[in-house]
Amino acid sequence: MYQEETARGIMCRICPNECVLKEGELSKCNNRKVHNSKLYTMAYGNPCSVNIDPVEKKPLYHFLPGSKAFSIATAGCNLVCLNCQNWTISQTSPDKTRNIDLMPEAVVEESIKNKCESIAYTYSEPVTFYEYVFETATLARNSGIKNIFKSNGYINREPLKKLCTVIDAANIDLKAFSEGTYLKLTGGKLQPVLDSLKIIKDSGVWLEITNLIIPDWTDNLDDIRMMCKWLSENGFKNTPLHLSRFYPLHKLEQLPPTPVEILNSAFRTASEEGLKYVYTGNSPGNEISNTKCPSCNTEIVVRQGYRIATNNISGGKCKKCGNKIDGVWN
Ligand code: SF4
Repeated sequence: MYQEETARGIMCRICPNECVLKEGELSKCNNRKVHNSKLYTMAYGNPCSVNIDPVEKKPLYHFLPGSKAFSIATAGCNLVCLNCQNWTISQTSPDKTRNIDLMPEAVVEESIKNKCESIAYTYSEPVTFYEYVFETATLARNSGIKNIFKSNGYINREPLKKLCTVIDAANIDLKAFSEGTYLKLTGGKLQPVLDSLKIIKDSGVWLEITNLIIPDWTDNLDDIRMMCKWLSENGFKNTPLHLSRFYPLHKLEQLPPTPVEILNSAFRTASEEGLKYVYTGNSPGNEISNTKCPSCNTEIVVRQGYRIATNNISGGKCKKCGNKIDGVWN
């Protein structure tokens, strides 16, 4: 999908990398190749990771709490994040991973068999296994199964708009808030991700955002304030923001984990900028993970790890004061 012939080779127009490939060349995302003058995806029906996860793990806190998501990933990613926690599958190719033969029909059947209310395209980068996501999601929708897109949001506008016709919820990583940091940390650009947030929101797909706070890279509170201000001023006040704790990984192994105080300061900054649903995560024992009603301040959803201990939302409203709580609750 989204390919065109150019004088220099075949161009893939799925993501802003816009790879132009000649015979035998492998894409930047490591899972597309030109063979006999045609561009092929090696990811289709070839997941290397298949699990059943609580939806809270994506993280999605305002989307069918307590439900299960049938989660799939293939090898490949269109970014090269220094901090990647799934680098063993994201920074390689499907011909180097152990894959399971699972075509879209089988993904939907397995989801139904395992009583999963949704399918999550996750772990590595679903933008790069676009055709597999789109066709699986289309079948799933026809079978009453929801679709979750857990992504870096590094995708071109047209493919994203098409995808939004079949997905129900997305969690997008907003990895930094300056072009310079984005390039150095991920190899990509910030603006396309900001555009994606707006497209997803405007399409009516339920959206949550994750921002990983990495010491020395994305822990500057002025930058975090700027990011939250932008979110607040661009219609994302009701969009949950997950501020996530970093642990030393991949090419940033020399850094310490994010201090909990920094996470808490970022939480306060986001709340001061008017974001209604802010959480801290990936920090067992120190997480701010309960949902408070923005109107009466009662804790309406209490989470213990990925478990829902209390859910005081009924018909999408706070049981205590009747205020509408943003999200997809049943
Ligand atoms: S999806 Fe892959 S092949 Fe297509 S433009 Fe992006 S990196 Fe290149």
